[in-house]
Amino acid sequence: MSDSTLIWQNGTLKPWHEATVHVSAHALHYGSSVFEGERVYATPDGPRFFRLADHTRRLFASARVYGIDIGYTPQQIDDACRDVVRANGMDAAYVRPVVFRGAGGLGILPKDDVVDVAVLALPWGSYHGDAREQGADVCVSSWNRAAPNTFPSWAKAGGNYLNSQLIALEARRGGYAEGIALGCDGLLSEGAGENLFLVLNGELVTPPTSAGVLVGITRDSVIALAGELGIPFVERALPREALLYADEIFLCGTAAEITPVRSVDGAPVGRGGVGPITRALQDAFFGLFDGRTEDRWGWLTGLDEPASTSAARDPRHAASISAVIPDREKHKAAIRDRTVREAPDSMEASA
Ligand code: PMP
Repeated sequence: MSDSTLIWQNGTLKPWHEATVHVSAHALHYGSSVFEGERVYATPDGPRFFRLADHTRRLFASARVYGIDIGYTPQQIDDACRDVVRANGMDAAYVRPVVFRGAGGLGILPKDDVVDVAVLALPWGSYHGDAREQGADVCVSSWNRAAPNTFPSWAKAGGNYLNSQLIALEARRGGYAEGIALGCDGLLSEGAGENLFLVLNGELVTPPTSAGVLVGITRDSVIALAGELGIPFVERALPREALLYADEIFLCGTAAEITPVRSVDGAPVGRGGVGPITRALQDAFFGLFDGRTEDRWGWLTGLDEPASTSAARDPRHAASISAVIPDREKHKAAIRDRTVREAPDSMEASA
């Protein structure tokens, strides 16, 4: 990236190479970050965020799980996301707000007031490349998702992605595009960075939100679009062998969008190729961005308008991302620019 790319860091836009953090940052050692991945699409009406308010709500909910006080309001985070896209003159982007415990000592117990916030905007096309059209070859991972009451899967926290890395690295070593993980109960969970959907006997099925999954915003959108299209849908715990019974399988997420799966561990899915329900959902989803699908939910917002407050469809999802407003002013002064900090009193590790 060149220095003409701007990053929003703790309230200011900075050239790419200046947006740095100290090596003692807590998040670097202990995974104490929460983040989002959002997309801006180039639509006939100009650049539009997809479900910005819902992403911001989830960011605040994730921060609450780990007791991280973001120190900005949701409105300010929305504005930062819009600012960074505008400042970089982008029509389409992958936007990454990240909130992390910064440089304040190496104790596991973090300092409450040392929280950094940054927003990056990058060009990012199809996450799985050609697979969007042709289907991805995936495997079932030998790694399980984290057990309940260990690493909370509803929170989109940096540390959770160590598990995702094990799954994705193993998949790549085996020549697969992605790995599908089972939960600790041996039932289907999700991909390294995507939620999982199957079509079984004409019904769209996805594991429940209690299956160690991130409660995906694309997942929620797919469920809403399936409702519009009259596709029967159910959330159900699924055994691994459902992958072999499925007529269609796809993965979905902000980066992966809707990526069909054409084989699992070398076995073709259904009749091979991309199935009709997956295709219909892809058409409806991508139609939101080229005007073919009416945005009935207020999911798309421009760079100058307030983010939509569209309610999540799944009530459990709504609960997980319900707005959590932090003490808005508390850390404002402290976070103005914390890139360069004084050395903490003690650098002794307690890990
Ligand atoms: N599961 C995991 C583990 C993910 O990282 C993602 C991507 N954020 C998803 C599911 C899909 O979530 P979303 O649709 O909100 O991007």
